[in-house]
Order: sequence, then C-alpha cells, then structure tokens
Amino acid sequence: MAREVKYVSETIGKIMKEWAKNGKRNFIVKVPKSHHVKEFETLLKQMLIHYAVPVRAEVQEIPVTIECECGYVGEVKVSSPEEIKKVTCPNCNGNGKIISGKKIEIIC
Ligand SMILES: [Zn+2]
Repeated sequence: MAREVKYVSETIGKIMKEWAKNGKRNFIVKVPKSHHVKEFETLLKQMLIHYAVPVRAEVQEIPVTIECECGYVGEVKVSSPEEIKKVTCPNCNGNGKIISGKKIEIIC
C-alpha cells in the first residue's frame, strides 16, 4: 500500500503550490501505467481531504510508450515506476526512447 505514497506526496505538493500561488482548482493528473494507478488515485483523494485542499483532481491512466531505432513505436510493460530507467524494446531488446509515460504529469 505504501508504494505510491512518495509519488502522491510529490503530486500533492505541486497541486498545493498551484492552488496557493495561482488559485488553480481543477487538475488532471496523468499517471503512467508503471504505477499502481488505483492505489495512487485512492491515496491522492484521501490526502486532499486530509489536508483540506479545495481542489478537484482527476486521475488519468496513461500508457508507457517508446520509440526505438528498430522502428518499434508503441506501448511497453513496466511493472513499477523504478523500472522506467530499464525499459527495453519488446521487438529488439534495445534501448528505446520513452515518448510518453515517463513520469507523472499534472495539468491545470
Ligand atoms: Zn527496438
């Protein structure tokens, strides 16, 4: 259960900064599939309530996709956020370039 805590804390920190500085109240949080997205969402909502931050945060799951020299462009399976540095191409096992889902994005 604790796996996503640090990522949720970081996200809350960024959201609170935007809210305090710029008065933003609606956020979309794009969480790569390498995360435990359901756990992330549950924790995020609990912590926003806990800190009494009056914002709406919608969590969206995004795939981790790469572009590789061999021509492969597409999704790769990553089982945890820490594994993102070790992503390999499912076609040639080379090091593809991550084009989406590298980290959590916050849109406000
Ligand atoms: Zn490849």
